[in-house]
Amino acid sequence: MKRLSAKAWGILFSKYDGGPALTNSDCCMACLIDGAKSVVFADSYRDQRTLMRDLANDVIAGKCLDGAYFVSKTWLQQWVRRKNIDAPSEADAGPTASIVCRHGQLRPEQTGAKRLLVPEKLWHFLYEDAVAVKSDDPLGCTTFPSDSAQCSECSDELSEVACFEDSIREMKLKQRQNHEKLATGKSISLSLNCTYYLMPSSWLTKWRNYINSSGKNISTSVEPEVLDPVIDALKCEWHSRLLERPPDLVNKRGGLVQKSSTTDAFTIITENDWNSFCEEWGGNKEKGIMATIESSDVAENNLGGSQEDVFISKDNPSSQDEVNNDPEIRQPLIRISPEICEDCIGERKSRELAKKLNYFNEDISVSLVRGKEAPRSILEASSATPETDRRASKRSRKTSYGTSVNLKVSGSTSLYQLKMMIWESLGVVKENQILHKGSMIIDQESATLADLNIFPGDKLWVQDSEIHEHRDIADEITDQKASSKHPEKGFQGTLLTTTTSSQVA
Ligand SMILES: [Zn+2]
Ligand SMILES: [Zn+2]
Ligand SMILES: [Zn+2]
Repeated sequence: MKRLSAKAWGILFSKYDGGPALTNSDCCMACLIDGAKSVVFADSYRDQRTLMRDLANDVIAGKCLDGAYFVSKTWLQQWVRRKNIDAPSEADAGPTASIVCRHGQLRPEQTGAKRLLVPEKLWHFLYEDAVAVKSDDPLGCTTFPSDSAQCSECSDELSEVACFEDSIREMKLKQRQNHEKLATGKSISLSLNCTYYLMPSSWLTKWRNYINSSGKNISTSVEPEVLDPVIDALKCEWHSRLLERPPDLVNKRGGLVQKSSTTDAFTIITENDWNSFCEEWGGNKEKGIMATIESSDVAENNLGGSQEDVFISKDNPSSQDEVNNDPEIRQPLIRISPEICEDCIGERKSRELAKKLNYFNEDISVSLVRGKEAPRSILEASSATPETDRRASKRSRKTSYGTSVNLKVSGSTSLYQLKMMIWESLGVVKENQILHKGSMIIDQESATLADLNIFPGDKLWVQDSEIHEHRDIADEITDQKASSKHPEKGFQGTLLTTTTSSQVA
Protein backbone atom coordinates (compact mmCIF):
# COMPACT_ATOMS: atom_id res chain seq x y z
CA MET A 1 0.00 0.00 0.00
CA LYS A 2 1.29 3.41 -0.89
CA ARG A 3 0.01 6.88 -0.15
CA LEU A 4 -0.28 9.26 -3.13
CA SER A 5 -0.82 12.98 -3.35
CA ALA A 6 -4.32 14.09 -4.48
CA LYS A 7 -2.81 15.35 -7.76
CA ALA A 8 -1.07 12.06 -8.56
CA TRP A 9 -4.25 10.19 -7.75
CA GLY A 10 -6.16 12.44 -10.13
CA ILE A 11 -3.74 11.72 -12.99
CA LEU A 12 -3.70 7.96 -12.41
CA PHE A 13 -7.48 7.86 -12.07
CA SER A 14 -8.01 9.76 -15.34
CA LYS A 15 -5.54 7.53 -17.16
CA TYR A 16 -6.42 4.06 -15.92
CA ASP A 17 -9.78 4.44 -14.30
CA GLY A 18 -10.48 2.27 -11.24
CA GLY A 19 -11.22 2.89 -7.65
CA PRO A 20 -12.69 3.31 -5.20
CA ALA A 21 -10.70 6.28 -3.95
CA LEU A 22 -9.51 5.40 -0.45
CA THR A 23 -8.58 7.97 2.13
CA ASN A 24 -7.53 7.82 5.79
CA SER A 25 -11.14 7.68 6.92
CA ASP A 26 -11.80 4.51 4.88
CA CYS A 27 -9.84 2.13 7.19
CA CYS A 28 -11.85 -0.93 8.29
CA MET A 29 -12.08 -0.64 12.04
CA ALA A 30 -13.13 -4.27 12.51
CA CYS A 31 -9.96 -5.56 10.87
CA LEU A 32 -7.80 -3.15 12.80
CA ILE A 33 -9.32 -4.33 16.07
CA ASP A 34 -8.97 -8.00 15.14
CA GLY A 35 -5.33 -7.56 14.27
CA ALA A 36 -4.66 -5.67 17.46
CA LYS A 37 -6.47 -8.29 19.50
CA SER A 38 -4.36 -11.14 18.14
CA VAL A 39 -1.19 -9.17 18.84
CA VAL A 40 -2.39 -8.62 22.36
CA PHE A 41 -3.39 -12.30 22.67
CA ALA A 42 -0.03 -13.51 21.42
CA ASP A 43 1.68 -11.19 23.89
CA SER A 44 -0.41 -12.30 26.80
CA TYR A 45 -0.34 -16.03 25.77
CA ARG A 46 3.41 -15.92 25.45
CA ASP A 47 3.69 -14.27 28.85
CA GLN A 48 1.38 -16.76 30.44
CA ARG A 49 3.05 -19.71 28.81
CA THR A 50 6.48 -18.50 29.89
CA LEU A 51 5.15 -18.33 33.41
CA MET A 52 3.74 -21.85 33.16
CA ARG A 53 6.96 -23.10 31.65
CA ASP A 54 8.88 -21.92 34.69
CA LEU A 55 6.40 -23.76 36.84
CA ALA A 56 6.74 -26.90 34.72
CA ASN A 57 10.52 -26.73 34.98
CA ASP A 58 10.14 -26.67 38.74
CA VAL A 59 7.91 -29.74 38.53
CA ILE A 60 10.48 -31.58 36.40
CA ALA A 61 13.27 -30.56 38.75
CA GLY A 62 11.21 -31.91 41.65
CA LYS A 63 10.92 -28.49 43.27
CA CYS A 64 7.16 -28.31 43.19
CA LEU A 65 5.28 -29.50 46.26
CA ASP A 66 1.67 -28.62 45.45
CA GLY A 67 1.22 -31.19 42.67
CA ALA A 68 -2.43 -32.07 42.18
CA TYR A 69 -2.81 -33.70 38.73
CA PHE A 70 -0.85 -36.31 36.79
CA VAL A 71 0.62 -35.68 33.35
CA SER A 72 3.08 -37.77 31.32
CA LYS A 73 6.65 -37.00 32.28
CA THR A 74 8.04 -37.30 28.73
CA TRP A 75 5.22 -35.19 27.37
CA LEU A 76 5.92 -32.40 29.88
CA GLN A 77 9.66 -32.53 29.17
CA GLN A 78 8.93 -31.98 25.48
CA TRP A 79 6.39 -29.27 26.25
CA VAL A 80 8.86 -27.08 28.13
CA ARG A 81 11.35 -27.37 25.29
CA ARG A 82 8.96 -26.12 22.61
CA LYS A 83 10.21 -22.92 20.90
CA ASN A 84 7.21 -21.42 19.13
CA ILE A 85 4.93 -20.39 21.97
CA ASP A 86 2.77 -17.59 20.54
CA ALA A 87 -0.26 -19.90 20.37
CA PRO A 88 -1.15 -23.49 21.28
CA SER A 89 0.05 -25.96 18.65
CA GLU A 90 -0.89 -29.50 17.61
CA ALA A 91 1.92 -30.86 19.76
CA ASP A 92 0.24 -29.53 22.88
CA ALA A 93 -2.44 -32.25 22.62
CA GLY A 94 -2.52 -35.35 24.82
CA PRO A 95 -0.72 -34.48 28.07
CA THR A 96 -1.95 -37.77 29.57
CA ALA A 97 -2.18 -39.87 26.37
CA SER A 98 0.77 -42.06 27.31
CA ILE A 99 -0.22 -42.60 30.94
CA VAL A 100 -3.81 -43.68 30.32
CA CYS A 101 -4.38 -47.43 29.82
CA ARG A 102 -6.78 -49.04 27.36
CA HIS A 103 -9.36 -49.18 30.14
CA GLY A 104 -9.25 -45.39 30.49
CA GLN A 105 -7.48 -45.66 33.85
CA LEU A 106 -4.07 -44.68 35.11
CA ARG A 107 -1.47 -47.02 33.60
CA PRO A 108 0.80 -48.79 36.08
CA GLU A 109 4.17 -47.03 36.14
CA GLN A 110 6.10 -50.34 35.73
CA THR A 111 5.04 -50.36 32.08
CA GLY A 112 7.31 -47.39 31.49
CA ALA A 113 4.52 -44.80 31.72
CA LYS A 114 6.38 -42.31 33.92
CA ARG A 115 4.26 -39.48 35.26
CA LEU A 116 4.56 -36.25 37.24
CA LEU A 117 2.21 -34.28 39.48
CA VAL A 118 1.60 -30.71 38.33
CA PRO A 119 -0.09 -27.86 40.28
CA GLU A 120 -3.73 -27.17 39.55
CA LYS A 121 -3.22 -23.94 37.59
CA LEU A 122 -0.64 -25.56 35.33
CA TRP A 123 -2.99 -28.49 34.73
CA HIS A 124 -5.80 -26.11 33.74
CA PHE A 125 -3.51 -24.27 31.34
CA LEU A 126 -2.33 -27.55 29.72
CA TYR A 127 -5.85 -28.95 29.64
CA GLU A 128 -7.35 -25.91 27.88
CA ASP A 129 -4.63 -25.89 25.23
CA ALA A 130 -4.98 -29.64 24.66
CA VAL A 131 -8.75 -29.41 24.23
CA ALA A 132 -8.38 -26.35 22.02
CA VAL A 133 -6.03 -28.06 19.52
CA LYS A 134 -7.65 -31.51 19.65
CA SER A 135 -11.17 -31.57 20.98
CA ASP A 136 -11.95 -35.08 19.68
CA ASP A 137 -9.41 -36.85 21.90
CA PRO A 138 -10.98 -37.24 25.37
CA LEU A 139 -8.52 -39.95 26.51
CA GLY A 140 -5.51 -37.79 25.64
CA CYS A 141 -6.42 -35.25 28.32
CA THR A 142 -8.06 -37.42 30.96
CA THR A 143 -7.99 -35.69 34.34
CA PHE A 144 -6.07 -37.74 36.91
CA PRO A 145 -6.20 -36.14 40.37
CA SER A 146 -3.28 -37.06 42.61
CA ASP A 147 -5.32 -39.68 44.46
CA SER A 148 -6.18 -41.67 41.28
CA ALA A 149 -5.47 -45.38 41.66
CA GLN A 150 -3.58 -47.35 39.01
CA CYS A 151 -5.77 -49.54 36.82
CA SER A 152 -6.42 -52.78 38.71
CA GLU A 153 -6.88 -54.86 35.54
CA CYS A 154 -3.55 -53.72 34.15
CA SER A 155 -1.86 -54.33 37.51
CA ASP A 156 -3.19 -57.89 37.61
CA GLU A 157 -1.91 -58.60 34.11
CA LEU A 158 1.48 -57.25 35.08
CA SER A 159 1.83 -59.44 38.13
CA GLU A 160 0.79 -62.50 36.11
CA VAL A 161 3.51 -61.78 33.58
CA ALA A 162 6.01 -61.21 36.37
CA CYS A 163 4.98 -64.47 37.99
CA PHE A 164 5.30 -66.34 34.70
CA GLU A 165 8.71 -64.83 34.07
CA ASP A 166 9.82 -65.79 37.55
CA SER A 167 8.87 -69.40 36.99
CA ILE A 168 10.71 -69.50 33.67
CA ARG A 169 13.78 -67.98 35.26
CA GLU A 170 13.66 -70.60 37.98
CA MET A 171 13.22 -73.44 35.47
CA LYS A 172 16.16 -72.25 33.43
CA LEU A 173 18.37 -72.00 36.49
CA LYS A 174 17.41 -75.52 37.51
CA GLN A 175 18.24 -76.91 34.08
CA ARG A 176 21.55 -75.10 34.06
CA GLN A 177 22.33 -76.82 37.35
CA ASN A 178 21.08 -80.22 36.18
CA HIS A 179 23.22 -80.10 33.06
CA GLU A 180 26.15 -78.02 34.20
CA LYS A 181 28.62 -79.15 31.55
CA LEU A 182 26.19 -79.18 28.65
CA ALA A 183 24.88 -75.73 29.60
CA THR A 184 28.35 -74.21 29.33
CA GLY A 185 29.22 -76.23 26.24
CA LYS A 186 32.10 -78.11 27.87
CA SER A 187 32.95 -81.54 26.52
CA ILE A 188 32.46 -84.43 28.88
CA SER A 189 35.23 -86.93 29.41
CA LEU A 190 34.10 -90.42 28.51
CA SER A 191 34.93 -93.69 30.20
CA LEU A 192 35.05 -97.18 28.75
CA ASN A 193 32.07 -99.46 29.24
CA CYS A 194 29.78 -96.75 30.55
CA THR A 195 26.40 -96.09 29.04
CA TYR A 196 25.95 -92.78 27.27
CA TYR A 197 23.27 -91.34 25.06
CA LEU A 198 23.41 -89.50 21.76
CA MET A 199 21.56 -86.18 21.52
CA PRO A 200 20.93 -84.27 18.28
CA SER A 201 23.44 -81.42 18.38
CA SER A 202 21.01 -78.97 16.78
CA TRP A 203 18.50 -79.52 19.58
CA LEU A 204 21.21 -79.06 22.21
CA THR A 205 22.27 -75.77 20.65
CA LYS A 206 18.71 -74.52 20.77
CA TRP A 207 18.34 -75.69 24.35
CA ARG A 208 21.60 -74.04 25.39
CA ASN A 209 20.55 -70.70 23.86
CA TYR A 210 17.20 -70.98 25.59
CA ILE A 211 18.35 -71.73 29.11
CA ASN A 212 21.16 -69.20 28.96
CA SER A 213 18.96 -66.33 27.79
CA SER A 214 17.86 -63.90 30.45
CA GLY A 215 16.83 -60.30 30.98
CA LYS A 216 14.39 -58.60 28.67
CA ASN A 217 14.06 -61.42 26.15
CA ILE A 218 13.36 -64.05 28.82
CA SER A 219 9.82 -64.76 27.68
CA THR A 220 10.53 -64.40 23.96
CA SER A 221 13.54 -66.72 23.55
CA VAL A 222 12.72 -69.78 21.46
CA GLU A 223 11.96 -72.97 23.37
CA PRO A 224 13.51 -76.20 22.09
CA GLU A 225 11.04 -78.73 20.67
CA VAL A 226 9.51 -81.62 22.59
CA LEU A 227 12.15 -84.32 22.64
CA ASP A 228 10.32 -87.49 21.66
CA PRO A 229 9.51 -86.56 18.03
CA VAL A 230 12.98 -85.08 17.63
CA ILE A 231 14.55 -88.41 18.56
CA ASP A 232 12.07 -90.29 16.37
CA ALA A 233 13.05 -88.18 13.39
CA LEU A 234 16.61 -89.49 13.67
CA LYS A 235 15.47 -93.04 13.02
CA CYS A 236 14.32 -94.49 9.73
CA GLU A 237 10.64 -95.20 9.39
CA TRP A 238 11.02 -98.75 8.09
CA HIS A 239 13.58 -100.24 10.43
CA SER A 240 13.66 -97.78 13.37
CA ARG A 241 17.40 -97.60 13.00
CA LEU A 242 19.67 -94.56 12.99
CA LEU A 243 19.92 -92.27 9.99
CA GLU A 244 22.98 -90.39 11.20
CA ARG A 245 26.42 -91.57 12.17
CA PRO A 246 27.77 -91.26 15.72
CA PRO A 247 30.62 -88.81 16.34
CA ASP A 248 34.31 -89.66 16.37
CA LEU A 249 36.28 -89.89 19.58
CA VAL A 250 39.72 -88.60 20.41
CA ASN A 251 42.14 -89.00 23.27
CA LYS A 252 42.98 -85.64 24.69
CA ARG A 253 45.45 -85.30 27.52
CA GLY A 254 44.83 -88.78 28.80
CA GLY A 255 41.03 -88.58 28.62
CA LEU A 256 38.60 -89.73 26.00
CA VAL A 257 36.30 -87.05 24.55
CA GLN A 258 34.08 -86.51 21.57
CA LYS A 259 36.03 -85.07 18.69
CA SER A 260 34.78 -81.50 18.51
CA SER A 261 33.05 -80.73 15.30
CA THR A 262 30.35 -78.28 14.38
CA THR A 263 28.97 -80.56 11.71
CA ASP A 264 28.37 -83.57 13.94
CA ALA A 265 24.75 -84.61 14.07
CA PHE A 266 25.14 -86.02 17.57
CA THR A 267 26.55 -84.99 20.90
CA ILE A 268 27.39 -87.64 23.49
CA ILE A 269 25.72 -86.98 26.85
CA THR A 270 25.62 -88.87 30.15
CA GLU A 271 22.81 -91.13 31.24
CA ASN A 272 21.87 -88.59 33.92
CA ASP A 273 21.58 -85.82 31.38
CA TRP A 274 19.43 -88.02 29.17
CA ASN A 275 17.08 -88.95 32.00
CA SER A 276 16.67 -85.33 33.10
CA PHE A 277 16.10 -84.17 29.54
CA CYS A 278 13.35 -86.75 29.19
CA GLU A 279 11.62 -85.38 32.27
CA GLU A 280 12.17 -81.75 31.34
CA TRP A 281 11.39 -81.90 27.63
CA GLY A 282 8.99 -84.77 27.11
CA GLY A 283 11.37 -87.48 25.97
CA ASN A 284 10.78 -91.21 26.15
CA LYS A 285 13.56 -92.77 28.23
CA GLU A 286 13.17 -96.14 26.49
CA LYS A 287 13.62 -94.65 23.03
CA GLY A 288 17.00 -93.03 23.66
CA ILE A 289 19.99 -93.69 21.43
CA MET A 290 22.38 -95.59 23.66
CA ALA A 291 26.12 -95.49 23.16
CA THR A 292 28.76 -97.61 24.86
CA ILE A 293 32.42 -96.99 24.39
CA GLU A 294 34.65 -100.01 24.17
CA SER A 295 38.33 -100.57 23.67
CA SER A 296 39.23 -102.22 20.39
CA ASP A 297 40.18 -105.50 22.12
CA VAL A 298 36.73 -105.96 23.56
CA ALA A 299 35.21 -104.95 20.30
CA GLU A 300 37.17 -107.56 18.36
CA ASN A 301 36.01 -110.25 20.75
CA ASN A 302 32.46 -109.17 20.33
CA LEU A 303 32.60 -108.95 16.57
CA GLY A 304 32.32 -112.69 16.04
CA GLY A 305 29.44 -113.14 18.42
CA SER A 306 26.91 -110.52 17.65
CA GLN A 307 26.23 -109.48 14.09
CA GLU A 308 23.49 -107.15 15.19
CA ASP A 309 25.81 -104.54 16.64
CA VAL A 310 27.60 -102.00 14.59
CA PHE A 311 31.05 -100.79 15.43
CA ILE A 312 32.48 -97.54 14.31
CA SER A 313 36.18 -97.22 14.63
CA LYS A 314 38.08 -94.04 15.05
CA ASP A 315 40.92 -93.56 12.63
CA ASN A 316 44.42 -92.92 13.88
CA PRO A 317 44.66 -89.68 15.81
CA SER A 318 46.26 -87.08 13.62
CA SER A 319 47.68 -84.37 15.83
CA GLN A 320 50.41 -84.77 18.39
CA ASP A 321 48.04 -83.59 21.07
CA GLU A 322 45.72 -86.45 20.42
CA VAL A 323 48.33 -89.19 20.56
CA ASN A 324 47.29 -91.74 23.08
CA ASN A 325 49.68 -93.45 25.44
CA ASP A 326 47.26 -95.86 27.00
CA PRO A 327 47.18 -99.09 24.99
CA GLU A 328 43.96 -100.09 26.73
CA ILE A 329 41.94 -97.45 24.92
CA ARG A 330 44.03 -97.00 21.84
CA GLN A 331 41.19 -97.39 19.42
CA PRO A 332 37.99 -96.47 21.14
CA LEU A 333 34.84 -97.73 19.50
CA ILE A 334 31.28 -96.59 19.94
CA ARG A 335 28.68 -99.29 20.01
CA ILE A 336 25.25 -97.80 19.48
CA SER A 337 21.75 -99.07 19.86
CA PRO A 338 19.69 -98.85 17.72
CA GLU A 339 22.26 -99.51 15.03
CA ILE A 340 22.84 -97.46 11.92
CA CYS A 341 20.59 -98.20 8.95
CA GLU A 342 23.06 -98.38 6.07
CA ASP A 343 20.23 -99.19 3.65
CA CYS A 344 18.28 -96.05 4.40
CA ILE A 345 21.35 -93.81 4.65
CA GLY A 346 22.51 -95.11 1.27
CA GLU A 347 19.10 -94.61 -0.24
CA ARG A 348 18.83 -91.10 1.16
CA LYS A 349 22.22 -90.25 -0.29
CA SER A 350 21.37 -91.52 -3.75
CA ARG A 351 18.04 -89.68 -3.60
CA GLU A 352 19.84 -86.46 -2.77
CA LEU A 353 22.34 -87.05 -5.58
CA ALA A 354 19.60 -87.83 -8.08
CA LYS A 355 17.81 -84.65 -7.08
CA LYS A 356 20.98 -82.66 -7.55
CA LEU A 357 21.58 -84.15 -10.99
CA ASN A 358 18.05 -83.52 -12.17
CA TYR A 359 18.70 -79.98 -13.34
CA PHE A 360 17.58 -78.07 -16.41
CA ASN A 361 19.14 -75.21 -18.38
CA GLU A 362 21.86 -74.33 -15.87
CA ASP A 363 25.29 -72.82 -16.41
CA ILE A 364 28.56 -74.70 -16.49
CA SER A 365 31.79 -73.13 -17.62
CA VAL A 366 34.32 -74.64 -19.97
CA SER A 367 37.83 -73.24 -20.30
CA LEU A 368 40.09 -73.89 -23.26
CA VAL A 369 43.54 -74.53 -21.84
CA ARG A 370 46.61 -74.16 -24.04
CA GLY A 371 49.51 -76.29 -22.92
CA LYS A 372 49.80 -79.55 -21.07
CA GLU A 373 48.52 -78.65 -17.63
CA ALA A 374 45.55 -76.76 -16.35
CA PRO A 375 46.27 -73.94 -13.93
CA ARG A 376 45.64 -74.73 -10.29
CA SER A 377 42.73 -72.30 -10.14
CA ILE A 378 40.78 -74.40 -12.66
CA LEU A 379 41.66 -77.71 -11.05
CA GLU A 380 40.54 -76.47 -7.67
CA ALA A 381 37.42 -74.78 -8.95
CA SER A 382 36.24 -77.86 -10.78
CA SER A 383 36.69 -80.15 -7.82
CA ALA A 384 35.19 -77.78 -5.28
CA THR A 385 31.51 -77.71 -4.48
CA PRO A 386 29.67 -76.24 -7.42
CA GLU A 387 28.64 -72.66 -7.00
CA THR A 388 27.10 -70.73 -9.82
CA ASP A 389 29.09 -67.71 -10.85
CA ARG A 390 26.61 -64.85 -10.68
CA ARG A 391 28.67 -62.63 -12.92
CA ALA A 392 28.79 -65.30 -15.57
CA SER A 393 27.92 -64.03 -18.99
CA LYS A 394 27.12 -66.02 -22.08
CA ARG A 395 29.94 -64.51 -24.06
CA SER A 396 33.32 -66.13 -23.88
CA ARG A 397 35.98 -64.19 -22.05
CA LYS A 398 39.74 -64.26 -22.05
CA THR A 399 41.47 -65.48 -18.93
CA SER A 400 45.14 -65.72 -18.05
CA TYR A 401 45.24 -69.33 -19.26
CA GLY A 402 42.98 -69.16 -22.31
CA THR A 403 39.36 -68.68 -23.28
CA SER A 404 36.44 -69.52 -21.03
CA VAL A 405 32.80 -69.87 -21.96
CA ASN A 406 29.54 -70.45 -20.10
CA LEU A 407 27.17 -73.03 -21.53
CA LYS A 408 23.53 -73.75 -20.68
CA VAL A 409 23.12 -77.46 -20.06
CA SER A 410 20.76 -79.92 -18.38
CA GLY A 411 21.31 -83.17 -16.53
CA SER A 412 19.98 -84.96 -19.61
CA THR A 413 22.41 -83.27 -22.02
CA SER A 414 24.68 -85.90 -23.55
CA LEU A 415 28.43 -85.50 -23.60
CA TYR A 416 28.20 -85.58 -27.40
CA GLN A 417 25.92 -82.54 -27.29
CA LEU A 418 28.25 -80.78 -24.89
CA LYS A 419 31.20 -81.46 -27.18
CA MET A 420 29.26 -79.99 -30.09
CA MET A 421 28.58 -76.88 -28.04
CA ILE A 422 32.25 -76.61 -27.18
CA TRP A 423 33.11 -76.99 -30.85
CA GLU A 424 30.62 -74.29 -31.68
CA SER A 425 31.78 -71.81 -29.02
CA LEU A 426 35.49 -72.52 -28.64
CA GLY A 427 36.22 -73.81 -32.14
CA VAL A 428 37.87 -77.05 -31.11
CA VAL A 429 36.98 -79.98 -33.39
CA LYS A 430 35.04 -82.58 -31.43
CA GLU A 431 37.63 -85.36 -31.99
CA ASN A 432 40.38 -83.09 -30.68
CA GLN A 433 38.64 -82.21 -27.44
CA ILE A 434 40.16 -83.64 -24.28
CA LEU A 435 37.58 -82.68 -21.70
CA HIS A 436 38.32 -82.67 -17.97
CA LYS A 437 36.51 -82.18 -14.73
CA GLY A 438 39.25 -81.54 -12.19
CA SER A 439 41.99 -84.01 -12.99
CA MET A 440 39.55 -86.53 -14.47
CA ILE A 441 39.09 -86.97 -18.21
CA ILE A 442 35.48 -87.15 -19.32
CA ASP A 443 35.04 -89.25 -22.42
CA GLN A 444 31.88 -91.18 -23.06
CA GLU A 445 29.87 -89.45 -25.73
CA SER A 446 26.61 -91.30 -25.17
CA ALA A 447 26.56 -90.65 -21.41
CA THR A 448 24.52 -87.76 -20.02
CA LEU A 449 25.99 -85.05 -17.83
CA ALA A 450 24.02 -86.53 -14.92
CA ASP A 451 25.67 -89.92 -15.57
CA LEU A 452 29.02 -88.19 -15.48
CA ASN A 453 28.27 -86.34 -12.21
CA ILE A 454 28.53 -82.94 -13.82
CA PHE A 455 26.62 -80.42 -11.70
CA PRO A 456 25.36 -76.90 -12.37
CA GLY A 457 28.18 -74.42 -11.79
CA ASP A 458 30.91 -76.97 -12.55
CA LYS A 459 34.03 -75.61 -14.16
CA LEU A 460 35.33 -77.97 -16.84
CA TRP A 461 38.41 -77.51 -18.95
CA VAL A 462 39.29 -78.71 -22.40
CA GLN A 463 42.54 -79.21 -24.29
CA ASP A 464 42.98 -79.28 -28.04
CA SER A 465 44.91 -82.41 -29.10
CA GLU A 466 45.29 -80.92 -32.61
CA ILE A 467 45.46 -84.46 -34.04
CA HIS A 468 42.60 -84.02 -36.47
CA GLU A 469 42.50 -81.26 -38.98
CA HIS A 470 40.21 -78.37 -38.28
CA ARG A 471 36.91 -78.41 -40.10
CA ASP A 472 33.66 -76.52 -39.96
CA ILE A 473 30.97 -77.65 -37.55
CA ALA A 474 28.44 -77.51 -40.39
CA ASP A 475 30.25 -80.44 -42.07
CA GLU A 476 29.73 -82.61 -39.00
CA ILE A 477 26.03 -81.84 -38.96
CA THR A 478 25.72 -82.66 -42.65
CA ASP A 479 27.62 -85.91 -42.10
CA GLN A 480 25.18 -86.85 -39.37
CA LYS A 481 22.27 -86.38 -41.68
CA ALA A 482 23.76 -88.82 -44.04
CA SER A 483 24.99 -91.47 -41.66
CA SER A 484 22.54 -91.00 -38.79
CA LYS A 485 25.33 -92.01 -36.46
CA HIS A 486 23.94 -90.23 -33.46
CA PRO A 487 20.27 -90.40 -32.62
CA GLU A 488 19.33 -86.82 -32.03
CA LYS A 489 17.28 -85.88 -29.05
CA GLY A 490 17.44 -82.95 -26.78
CA PHE A 491 19.19 -80.48 -29.00
CA GLN A 492 16.54 -78.00 -27.93
CA GLY A 493 17.99 -74.64 -27.04
CA THR A 494 21.15 -75.05 -29.11
CA LEU A 495 21.93 -73.82 -32.58
CA LEU A 496 21.69 -77.37 -33.84
CA THR A 497 17.94 -77.71 -33.32
CA THR A 498 16.93 -76.42 -36.71
CA THR A 499 19.28 -78.61 -38.66
CA THR A 500 18.47 -81.83 -36.83
CA SER A 501 14.75 -81.66 -36.28
CA SER A 502 14.00 -82.96 -39.74
CA GLN A 503 16.06 -86.02 -39.02
CA VAL A 504 14.14 -86.97 -35.88
CA ALA A 505 10.89 -87.10 -37.80
ZN1 LIG B 1 -12.43 -5.48 7.51
ZN1 LIG C 1 -6.07 -50.82 32.47
ZN1 LIG D 1 16.12 -98.17 7.58
